[in-house]
Amino acid sequence: MLPTKERNPNAIFVSYNTEGILIDCAEGTQRQLRLAGISPVKVTKLLITHWHGDHVLGIPGLIQSLGTSNYTKKLEIYGPKDSLKYFKNMMSGLVFRARINYEVHEINEEKFFENNDFYLESNKVKHSIDCLSYSLIEKDKLKVNVNYTKKFGLTQHPLLGELQRGKDIVYQGKKITVKKATIIKQGKKICFILDTYYDKKLIKIAKNSNLLVSESTWLEKDKLQDKEHLSAKDAGKLAKQARVKKLILTHFSQRYRNLNEVLKECKKEFKDTECAKDLMSLEI
Ligand SMILES: [Zn+2]
Ligand SMILES: [Zn+2]
Repeated sequence: MLPTKERNPNAIFVSYNTEGILIDCAEGTQRQLRLAGISPVKVTKLLITHWHGDHVLGIPGLIQSLGTSNYTKKLEIYGPKDSLKYFKNMMSGLVFRARINYEVHEINEEKFFENNDFYLESNKVKHSIDCLSYSLIEKDKLKVNVNYTKKFGLTQHPLLGELQRGKDIVYQGKKITVKKATIIKQGKKICFILDTYYDKKLIKIAKNSNLLVSESTWLEKDKLQDKEHLSAKDAGKLAKQARVKKLILTHFSQRYRNLNEVLKECKKEFKDTECAKDLMSLEI
């Protein structure tokens, strides 16, 4: 929640083909991007979970930099209700022209972006202000089973592309069907749950994710009256109930310099857990 010597507050960058999706943009995000070897111009979409400072204070800096970096795309900014108002207020406190094209979209619970490879979904979660979780859901794809098509003498041929697009083909008088000649490659799901109360709805949101990135502000014993954040135990319980494959914890209270206890508490509920470290990177 606060920057510490070891940790920067929230920002998560997802790269998928030409899309660069930044989830939250806390202060210091630009520098973290540089340290991670990611040029800020790679950002195509900014998804804001909510307008608490530890999630958004880096936005003006990022926009100023993009304005001086020959950023030719349109930055699509998505966030909960009133995002346009908060965004304008934030920018109006500074003297600079945002020399880039951008658009702010206020979203609710919806599929708000889709291309050939994946779609993005938002869901409301309970926090002290309007807050969204985000999921990137890759589409299932057909993969040609060459072991099958080679029986017909077909290993490399433009017709295989037709099969991959879901069309039966005829080769040398023989019909080859999509059903027999392809395998479904199941798309993956990544879910990002930042600040939230524990709520059964979260299980549905995170259901079957290959990767769940979840906040884990507290140890259960320190949670006391602050129910607007999850404990490590909550996050582990959630991962278990939602049957996710892997869990990464983030958004730790600054009181925990050492995260051993946090990890231990969570692992009692869900084994395949790691605590996020600054500049950590992984491929799904
Ligand atoms: Zn918050
Ligand atoms: Zn926060």
